[in-house]
Amino acid sequence: MTVAPRHRGRPGQIAAAAAALGLLAFSTVDPLGAAAPQLSADAAGGGVEIVTVRPNVFMIAGAGGNVAVQVGDDGVVVVDAGSAASAPAVIAAIKQLTPKPIRYIINTGPDADHVGGNEAVSKAGETLFGAMRIGGQRQEFMAPVASILSTEGVLRRMTAATATSPAYPAGGWPTETFHYPRKYMYLNGEAIEVLHQPAAHTDSDAFVFFRRSDVVVAGDVLDTRRFPEIDVDRGGSIQGEIAALTRLTDLAVPSVPIVAREAGTVVIPGHGRLYDQYDVIEYRDMVTIVRDRVQELVAAGRSLAEVKAARPANGYVARYGNAGGGWTADHFVEAVYRSLVAGKEKK
Ligand SMILES: [Zn+2]
Repeated sequence: MTVAPRHRGRPGQIAAAAAALGLLAFSTVDPLGAAAPQLSADAAGGGVEIVTVRPNVFMIAGAGGNVAVQVGDDGVVVVDAGSAASAPAVIAAIKQLTPKPIRYIINTGPDADHVGGNEAVSKAGETLFGAMRIGGQRQEFMAPVASILSTEGVLRRMTAATATSPAYPAGGWPTETFHYPRKYMYLNGEAIEVLHQPAAHTDSDAFVFFRRSDVVVAGDVLDTRRFPEIDVDRGGSIQGEIAALTRLTDLAVPSVPIVAREAGTVVIPGHGRLYDQYDVIEYRDMVTIVRDRVQELVAAGRSLAEVKAARPANGYVARYGNAGGGWTADHFVEAVYRSLVAGKEKK
């Protein structure tokens, strides 16, 4: 078996993990086109799959939202915990990657497929520091749980019951929150930036940028399977979505001048396959074109029904329309329309 360059230094670990699972299931299909093997971890029980992104950064797919895992001497930093149902499989997958304790969970947004696993994954870890906020009070002790970091909005949404769902259990609530544009830390030999995107998918989204590994975790701002889900009721907007996607293209660097290396920044989306900078630009441009078409119709005084009938997402529906799914082209067009007319309407 040949091991792709990305995996040098780790084949023993991957082979050991495969042996532990009784698996020989290596695929040579890489989402970015390079021949990087993927370790299938179906035997973990949740149907999850581990994708090696960098020597110390992995993506766990199939756990609700994508989960990113950074591994190093300080322990494990997990970006998004997946759904509650997938948490046992996520924890098992992390244990296959490293014996080091889980230190941090960073949430990219408030949705259940990203924060649902917080409590279980946190309880499988241990904090790096003695100070924790438990039940709203800051207490000094060595808690046997990993810290959870997010924007303030994630905590606000997790602690409040809605018409359709109760509040999350307190063990899954963020223990550290921030409301300013950039939170940072330095763990496992690299800077980690957590960048608030204030009005994109919701008002509480964040990118997580591993600077040395050159990996950005984008959360639900980027869903490569479909049009971006813009939740206007929770503070999302088309203008903020395009601003966030543009920010993503600014953070990422493509593989130039030596394109054939297929190097460059890797972007882990909330759902779907890995993207590079060109992919993000193409996606951003698609979203912008649909926005421009809806904007013209709005300027011409068209109603929502007339805008939908004009099919402003034409040309992209086959690829991103998610027909029959929960977030279709019609849902997207309606969210774009509502974003653009918001503020013009009297409430
Ligand atoms: Zn999601």
